[in-house]
Amino acid sequence: MRRIWILRLSHRRERDKRLTTHVALTARALGAEGMAYSGDIDTTLEDRIKDINRRWGGDFKVEYIEDPVKWINLMKMNGFKIIHLTMYGVNISDIINELRKYDKLVLIVGSEKVEKIYFEISDYNVAIGNQPHSEVAAIAVFLDRYFRGRELRKKFVGGEYYIIPSERGKIVKKKVNGL
Ligand code: SAM
Repeated sequence: MRRIWILRLSHRRERDKRLTTHVALTARALGAEGMAYSGDIDTTLEDRIKDINRRWGGDFKVEYIEDPVKWINLMKMNGFKIIHLTMYGVNISDIINELRKYDKLVLIVGSEKVEKIYFEISDYNVAIGNQPHSEVAAIAVFLDRYFRGRELRKKFVGGEYYIIPSERGKIVKKKVNGL
């Protein structure tokens, strides 16, 4: 089973509240297992994601970490490859086939300026194109390329509701016993 964690660096509770939530929601929807974050502790962010799991299923985890470098080293010891997403890196199209050989990845994304140590400690520095955009877009494109779009058909176990895709309107059903 493929296992993907996100490391969101330097979360600022007020400034980044929507963006970090969107990082987590995007990662969850596109096949990641959890998001670790450093910076400010934010229980509102954690509660928001728990509420999404409760309503829409799955078990996406959000964990605060005080020392990202220590956490990265721990993940490396557990067999994870560390991919830092940065516009300065190697273009994703030139490296994605190699990265698909690994089934355990940590994707690092920044918020403000990313310290040099993360460029050095990572196994790969990967660019989703060499122009600046956003951490949400970077995660979405990376995961979609990595999973070749299959993650978009993933069924989430548990939760209260599910959607019946429709050409028009919204069809939402209540689950029976989480199925
Ligand atoms: N100014 C910051 C710097 O120099 O590192 C970048 C800030 S950017 C708004 C926030 C994060 O989005 C980056 O740390 C990176 O993880 C991600 N990001 C933005 N553009 C990217 C790109 N073209 N490829 C990969 N990641 C990107």
